Amino acid sequence: MTAKARRGAPRPATLIPGDGIGPEVIDAAVQVMAAAGGRIAWDVQPAGKEAFEKMGTAIPEALLASIRRTRVGLKGPLETQIGRTGYRSVNVALRKTFDLFANVRPIRSHPGVRTAFSGVDLVVVRENTEDLYSGIEHTIAPGVVESVKVITARASRRIARFAFDLARRERRHKVVAIHKANIMKLSDGLFLACAQQVAKRHPRIHYGELIVDNACMQLVLRPQEFDVLLLENLYGDIVSDLCAGLVGGLGLVPGANLGARHAIFEAVHGTAPDIAGKNKANPLAAVLSGAMLLRHVGQRRAADRIERAVSRLLRERRHRTCDLGGTAATSAVTERLIALL
Ligand code: ATP
Repeated sequence: MTAKARRGAPRPATLIPGDGIGPEVIDAAVQVMAAAGGRIAWDVQPAGKEAFEKMGTAIPEALLASIRRTRVGLKGPLETQIGRTGYRSVNVALRKTFDLFANVRPIRSHPGVRTAFSGVDLVVVRENTEDLYSGIEHTIAPGVVESVKVITARASRRIARFAFDLARRERRHKVVAIHKANIMKLSDGLFLACAQQVAKRHPRIHYGELIVDNACMQLVLRPQEFDVLLLENLYGDIVSDLCAGLVGGLGLVPGANLGARHAIFEAVHGTAPDIAGKNKANPLAAVLSGAMLLRHVGQRRAADRIERAVSRLLRERRHRTCDLGGTAATSAVTERLIALL
């Protein structure tokens, strides 16, 4: 039997290049994953703007069928159109279709990246399926619009359980639920009540609560004191960008959207239209998302190699894209990373 056959067949996975800088950073991730020994058989599926222009739909049926089949995907950022016109958010649709209820964003300081803080190591756990992302909006009277925030006990309990399980698995010590229950007494009150119930079943993990505005201030004063952050959808969206800023910005933070059966991995950043197509985007967030995918499908060694190479690259301080104050091209960072594997 050849060595290749012994290692087993490549794991099928869906690849969504995305819009803006998506194709550039996803191409980098795919190259690095293969060079690290990752064994993935990619099924490339367009979505978003590219699919809308070519096929008249931003969410083609072939894309959904592919994810149903592979159950795992690596996704570039997709453009979400602002205002009334255009198609509805593909990101939101994918999360709802596959019930990807947990959005996980590990936020870690990288030695070699100069920021206001060192030693940050926290995880943002964001509920991904409801809240103001319900998509329920209507005009009640001319000049008056209502957007509906939906919070359910089922989803709140599920994400709280997820956060505590993650804390236990990763040997973390503290979960802090972030809320605005002083104003949204019913909705955020329900979210907190569910978190409290789940916390009771985890006596070894410290549980705390912070109002979102205070949490933002504490995060930019003492980020090292945070461990696992548990948030509803909208607060999670905003606070995770803030957290990305603590460790060097959006170009460095990977993410995962996880459900019971499916998982889609993607960087926290968006399409960055200002630098799209210029070979300037930082590919590391997409590369690290690829490493998370490899770990998820059991290819831990390849994932570890990628994470070590990223650390080395950042410590070298030589190959840096514009977001980190350098001038290196996406392709140059990718090549160096592969050399460091
Ligand atoms: P979208 O609407 O898709 O979220 P956006 O431009 O509003 O796009 P981001 O794409 O998250 O939001 O980008 C915010 C800023 O961060 C932009 O100035 C962008 O150039 C920069 N940025 C984001 N990702 C990267 C990256 N991977 N490399 C370099 N700069 C980045």
